[in-house]
Amino acid sequence: MPANIQKRTPKTNSSHGQVSENGQSKVKVTHTTKRKLYTWHEIPDWQKDNEFIHGGYVKETNSFTECINSLFYLHNESVNIYSHLIPGLISLLLILIDKYCVPKFNTTTITDYLFIDLFFFGAFACLTMSSTFHCLKSHSPGVAKFGNKLDYLGIVILISTSMVSILYYGFYDNSYMFYTFSSITLLFGFACAFVSLDEKFRSREWRPYRATMFVLFGLSAFLPIGAGLIHYGSHETWTRVQLKWIILEGVFYIFGAFLYGGRLPEKFNPGHYDMWGHSHQIFHVLVVVAALCHLTGLIKSYTYVHTYMLPVMIQT
Ligand SMILES: [Zn+2]
Repeated sequence: MPANIQKRTPKTNSSHGQVSENGQSKVKVTHTTKRKLYTWHEIPDWQKDNEFIHGGYVKETNSFTECINSLFYLHNESVNIYSHLIPGLISLLLILIDKYCVPKFNTTTITDYLFIDLFFFGAFACLTMSSTFHCLKSHSPGVAKFGNKLDYLGIVILISTSMVSILYYGFYDNSYMFYTFSSITLLFGFACAFVSLDEKFRSREWRPYRATMFVLFGLSAFLPIGAGLIHYGSHETWTRVQLKWIILEGVFYIFGAFLYGGRLPEKFNPGHYDMWGHSHQIFHVLVVVAALCHLTGLIKSYTYVHTYMLPVMIQT
């Protein structure tokens, strides 16, 4: 190799080389732009999860800085990141300004703020853990695996805190029922956390079973509703726990899990929903919509307790 040939491949987006030809040397400068997005066939096997998404992948970075940089260009995880990052940060803000945004009654106490903030905390934990996972999942297999566990754990935390918060107001005058159904909720929560963290249940083959466990967790909400119907009757139960909003919340969660489990709509039109509209993105949006339904029901239930129940309880 002639002494004047030098080759350098810096990490920047350009490369410079000197090429010797017929005893004469000339400098050849080439500029290459490092690609940001890759196709399904170009990414390593460990990154392959949904074969119906063909492009828009951030290829294994092995760099947290590159993962953070991916926040500033569009790829097939961008919607997944921002659909949870923005409402997650808003949830944290709501904890900090709860006294200004939660309706105040003469009977409102610190306990009310604690239970409403419990829900905000669940939303904050779930949504920020999820967006962190989606941002860092292109780092390496180890980081992706750990992040995925946190992602599911976040969903469990959100469902658990949602249910305990509404149970508090639904059974405001019946602590036995409140503690019983809160315990059942926490048991289901631990079971779901287990199938999310355990290696066996995390494999692709077990995906439908894991999804089923989450649906069952959601359906366990019918237990306190059934008890409420027997104990208080349909009209009062409907009002106490704002059943309309809780049912709507359940519908959104189940529909989201159904789309996610079935890989819909991308399954019917592979490659057409890579950046916008694939099942995981819809699932994310539906989780936020379901959380908003829960918040509406929770605030209405809290308002009912302080407007109609507590004045009567104080008098008697
Ligand atoms: Zn997600």
